[in-house]
Amino acid sequence: MPLPTENQRTDQRTDARTEPLTDASPVALAVRQAVADGLLGEDRPLAGFVDVQGVRDSVAGLHEAFAQVPDVLHTFAAKACSLVPVLRLLADAGMGCEVASPGELRLALDAGFAPARIVLDSPAKTRREIREALALGVALNADNLDELDRIDALRPEDCASVLGVRVNPQVGGGSIGAMSTATAHSKFGVALRDPGARARVVEAFARRPWLTRLHAHVGSQGCPLPLIAEGLAATHRLAEEINAHVGRRQVTSLDLGGGLPVNFADDTVTPTYAEYAAALDAAEPALLDGRYQVVTEFGRSLIAKNGFTAALVEYVKDAGGRRIALTHAGGQVATRTVFMPQAWPLRVSAYGPDGTPKRTPLVRQDVAGPLCFAGDVVAHDRPLPALSEGDLVVLHDTGGYYFSAHWSYNSLPRPAVYGYRLAGGQVAFAVIRSAQTVREISAESGLAQADALLTGFAAPPGT
Ligand SMILES: *Cc1c(COP(=O)(O)O)cnc(C)c1O
Repeated sequence: MPLPTENQRTDQRTDARTEPLTDASPVALAVRQAVADGLLGEDRPLAGFVDVQGVRDSVAGLHEAFAQVPDVLHTFAAKACSLVPVLRLLADAGMGCEVASPGELRLALDAGFAPARIVLDSPAKTRREIREALALGVALNADNLDELDRIDALRPEDCASVLGVRVNPQVGGGSIGAMSTATAHSKFGVALRDPGARARVVEAFARRPWLTRLHAHVGSQGCPLPLIAEGLAATHRLAEEINAHVGRRQVTSLDLGGGLPVNFADDTVTPTYAEYAAALDAAEPALLDGRYQVVTEFGRSLIAKNGFTAALVEYVKDAGGRRIALTHAGGQVATRTVFMPQAWPLRVSAYGPDGTPKRTPLVRQDVAGPLCFAGDVVAHDRPLPALSEGDLVVLHDTGGYYFSAHWSYNSLPRPAVYGYRLAGGQVAFAVIRSAQTVREISAESGLAQADALLTGFAAPPGT
């Protein structure tokens, strides 16, 4: 069942991958207002935008899909949009937070998530990180059995953390290898189908009465629902086996990971959270029947369609008979798209300098970025209204990962990100993150140690 609010937001399109027909879509309204407010233009050639109501609607859709599960904690995978105001919005909307590094844990705490609603999943936790998480009472999933040995040594008597272990059900991969976490050779979790591994996991639980959670994350973009459901059903079977072995309900919660794929081809939300829950139910009816607390860790599916990127067209040229628009959005913000254009295609729309959609005939053209490397093209040979200097391009569905996985190539600044809200047909903006300045870039590039290689050696070698 599609989320009703998303349905209402569906645009009519001439071409699913190009241009909205309506000037009244939330994105079109936001672009026009951003130009009017001076947030986009000659001196502000690149910005990200987050639809605040859209985020709330997506969270509501997730909660609704799991409404029949008595005990569920939905966490947001911080890496998908690691911006404190966005995390705080998600906390306010009822989410917990999944983190995978000390930095993400800090952001989650600063955003206001209670430690009990934070899950730490990083695959290479240091002893210090484990100690600090346990002291805070943050839930933690060990990536492997050696990490459980470390927890044995570090766990305080009065530990409040829920502790689990991640398994890899090895059900196979989806269409994007780098997004598939349940392959035979995945680096994540205990590889469950390897000889003897299952017995070792059961034994690890038998020896540790405080170990109460099983965690699996089958994959992200490109993984079909039945594959995800198969992996989670296998995880449920393992929980049942552990509990039968120890003779009590020691495993009390299942952390199901994240990874609902996002449709980047048009505005339709598919698959939906309701379809995800139905797929789990079909694969294993007992999975969501309330005997286990359920934790989810969705990232991209909560935020991707609630964000877009807008960039100025600086120049337009022809090369070898091909039209190329040089814009300010390239690999620094759309890294995966420029390196793996087949796996991560983005819809692009053309807007005029005043922020209204362009309606001129479609012409095939490349939409390139500002980086000094030839692969810096976000859309190849794409039919779009002919772009000109001063126009804007919108990269749709970039709310997930695109604002939080900046690539500092060419020392390009992290762009500003704004939240927007529609009220009575009017768009209002709030700054989420201001654009990085060139002074800040210099500061994080060692400015304070500028003389280090000339005079910085305390005792020069050989003296
Ligand atoms: C990245 C990640 C997620 C979120 O994945 P999405 O595809 O963004 O939903 C969830 N759990 C773990 C362990 C992850 O690494």
